[in-house]
This record gives sequence, C-alpha cells and structure tokens, in this order.
Amino acid sequence: MSIVSNSLKRIKPSPTMAVTSKAREMRAAGKDVIGLGAGEPDFDTPDNIKEAAIEAIKRGDTKYTAVDGTPNLKKAIQSKFLRENGLSYGLDQITVGTGGKQVLYNTFMATINKGDEVIIPAPYWVSYPDIILLAGGKPKIVKCGENDNFKITPEKLSRAITKKTKWIILNSPSNPTGSAYTKKEIIGLSKVLLKHKKIYILSDDIYEHIIYDNFNFFTIAQIKGLKDRTLTMNGVSKSYSMTGWRIGYAAGPKDIIKAIAKIQSQSTSNPTSISQAAAVEALNGKQDFIKERANSFKERRDFVVDNLNNINGLSCLRPEGAFYVFPSCKKLLGKKTKLKNDKDFVERLLEKSEVAVVPGSAFGLDGYFRISYATSMKNLEKAIGRIKTFCESFNY
Ligand code: PLP
Repeated sequence: MSIVSNSLKRIKPSPTMAVTSKAREMRAAGKDVIGLGAGEPDFDTPDNIKEAAIEAIKRGDTKYTAVDGTPNLKKAIQSKFLRENGLSYGLDQITVGTGGKQVLYNTFMATINKGDEVIIPAPYWVSYPDIILLAGGKPKIVKCGENDNFKITPEKLSRAITKKTKWIILNSPSNPTGSAYTKKEIIGLSKVLLKHKKIYILSDDIYEHIIYDNFNFFTIAQIKGLKDRTLTMNGVSKSYSMTGWRIGYAAGPKDIIKAIAKIQSQSTSNPTSISQAAAVEALNGKQDFIKERANSFKERRDFVVDNLNNINGLSCLRPEGAFYVFPSCKKLLGKKTKLKNDKDFVERLLEKSEVAVVPGSAFGLDGYFRISYATSMKNLEKAIGRIKTFCESFNY
C-alpha cells in the first residue's frame, strides 16, 4: 500500500514547472535549450524595493508578524485597491499569503465541502483544478475556444451553474492565453451571477498591470451587488518582478478572510517579514516602471504574434495582456506529421529544436501550446526561428 494519501493521488505536479525543469536538465547536459515555459518576468526587482528589504533586516523586522500580514502591508493593499480599482475595504477584509498561490490554496481549503463545484473556464491556470481537487471539490471545466477569444460567455456560464456551484474563478488577463475581459464582458457575466446569489467569485487579477493598447482593466468586484461575494486575489510577483519574494494578497468578505487566516495559522504562519516590508514599498513606492515594462512586453508580444502567424501550420490570436500567447498547432497534428496531439508537438519541438513550451492540454485545451515571452528579444528571435524551421519541416 502506498504511503501517499488518496487526496494527493487526485492531483499531478505542476506541468509548467515540469517543462522548466526538463529544459534545465537538458541545459545542464550541455544543450542550447531556449526556455519559453516560465511564468515570470525576466526583469529584476526594482532597487527601491530591494532597499526596503535591506532596511527591514537592519531595523530588525526579522520576527514573526501577524499571521495574515503586517498592518503596514494591509494598509498599502487597502490604498492600492482604492487608488487603482475604486474599491474600499476595511483592514479586516484583507489577507496576505506566501504568494497568490497560497492565498488561493487557503481560500479553497477553507471554503470547499466535499462535492462542491467550482466553475473554471478553460484554458485555465494549471493550479486551479488541482487545488479544488485537493480540497475535495469538483472542478467544473467549461471549454472556451478561440472563437470566444478563450473567454467564458454569459450563456456558457449560465449552463454550467448547478445547485452545487460554490465558486467561479475568473482570471483576467489570463494565464495561459493573455485574454482579458472588457468591462462590457464582465457586466454580461455579472448579469448571470447577480441572479445566483449563493455563488462566490474568485477574481485572479495577478496580471492586472501587464496590459496593452490602452486596454481598460476592470475587475468584477467593481460591479454593484457582487463585491460582497467576490474575493479579489492579486500579488506583487508579476507586476513588480517579485516572484521569488512570495507575497500575494486578497480582499473580500470578512468571513472568508478570517477562514483563510485560520488555515494559514496552522500551516505556514505569516509570510516572510522581510518580503512584506518590500511589498509595502512596491505598492506605495514609484509605479512608473510598470508601464515601461509593459511597453517592452508589448513589443515582444507583437514580434511573437506577427512571426507565429507567418509560420505554416500555426495561428495565433493577439492577446490583450499578461506575457503569454496561446497559438494553435492543430493544422500540424495528424497522420502525416505523426504528431498525435499537442503533447507530441511540444516534446518533438524540445527534442529536435531545443525550444521549451507548454502543451495546451496542460491548461485544459488540446491543440494549442503556451509561449511565455517574458524573455529577451534575442532569445525570442532565436526561438521563433527554430519553431519556424521545425513546423515547416513537415509535409502535410
Ligand atoms: N494566478 C495566476 C494566473 C498565475 O499565473 C500565477 C503564477 O504563475 C499565480 C496566480 C500565483 O502567483 P504567485 O504565487 O507568485 O503570487
């Protein structure tokens, strides 16, 4: 009999991390692998934020803090929501965790009963279904294809709701597609959700600042009547290039915030004191580099999308945000190429051309793959060249 618990058997390790480690192994073996798998900005954490961490160490901020965040960080998060989203929260409506991922984990551990359903539009971020499964819930996957720009429509949402629906997860801009919901689209979804008063909404806004072409970011808690049932999750990882610092946060109903703290108090306790001090500076300090960095990402997005669409066998939408694109490789699948599915495509691309990407099926939609363009233009130029040679080597 295996020592491993039944609940752990329900889940798999993160496939994005698996690709990244395979690429790392190949590189260690001397191969010239270009990794387009990682979900983190290639920019460094800004100096003012690093300095704040150094000051925190010197000041002696090296002890346990309140489990769910220091008062200073909670105040900075409170100001952020008011300043950027027009949302007003009390400090008892805010929680801080070790990354957005822990906030999500705590949320579902604290609120899911066996058999509760959570609506997850696919393509989805890989961790959502597995966290729900670990918590004993049932992910209700709703496939949202290219025709809908990979976004859930009010009709699809309506059809997915049952008596057991407890949560819906919205992620805009999205990992893995980069698609973002307009205000109009969110209003459309909210009309359905306003009718179903028992459903809670988890809005994952972690890519809020990585948006292009003057896209107006809008979050569902801004809808009158939904704020009381929405938990808005965000964090400093992507906007401030702070993935390694592990600070995420959420704001929403007091009972959920309290329940999250209870789980955290019996698991990790507080997030790192020093990282919390750095996150205060991130949120309260200068913000101008965010736009500058988003402009660099936009340049790379345009380069990647334009060039992918010039490769025989591939097609790619131009997303509104995040640092991912989600091209289709469907035309290259079949008997003639001997590529059965997107996993085959990705494996062969890595073996033959030494470019690491993630298969769409890992995100719940077959026939696609995810490219993270959070890497240098030089790398992207090289990678796109290799992808072109690989795709155009087939006769089909
Ligand atoms: N949500 C989405 C959609 C993500 O892509 C990520 C990270 O990749 C997270 C949440 C969690 O980020 P972190 O735990 O670094 O805050």
